[in-house]
Amino acid sequence: MLIQKNYSVEYAHRLMDHNGKCKFLHGHSGKVKIVFDGEVTKETGMVVDFGTFEWLKTLVNLLDHSVVLQQTDFLVKQLEPFSERMVRLEGPPTAENLCLFLEDLILAEMQCVSFTTAHTSLKLMSITFEETEGNSVTLENWRVK
Ligand SMILES: [Zn+2]
Repeated sequence: MLIQKNYSVEYAHRLMDHNGKCKFLHGHSGKVKIVFDGEVTKETGMVVDFGTFEWLKTLVNLLDHSVVLQQTDFLVKQLEPFSERMVRLEGPPTAENLCLFLEDLILAEMQCVSFTTAHTSLKLMSITFEETEGNSVTLENWRVK
């Protein structure tokens, strides 16, 4: 059965090589939807207790109220002294790359021994990142390792 967790993230970014207004530093109220597949346990009637997803919230919250920039952006050095919450990406901080950033974090956490023993049947199926209402990208399980 599929189980889904939804989060909101307020973040700032810019696409430094963009030809339009996205090259200016601006903010978004992004929405993240993460879907897992897992077996329902007969004893609990659940795939996983929703209350046990604090680890996922912690990972997604790395983006919340953060400035997200490409690591080669000159703004990184300029804003670093003032931005305790900064995420640097290898590529442009697009919705697509934020999906991939979250995928790396989530899969790394899911490979931990403590995770695999607590959530044996859980499989990451998709990550959707909605940058603005009506504009989103989804990373489906065909890519998820
Ligand atoms: Zn934007």
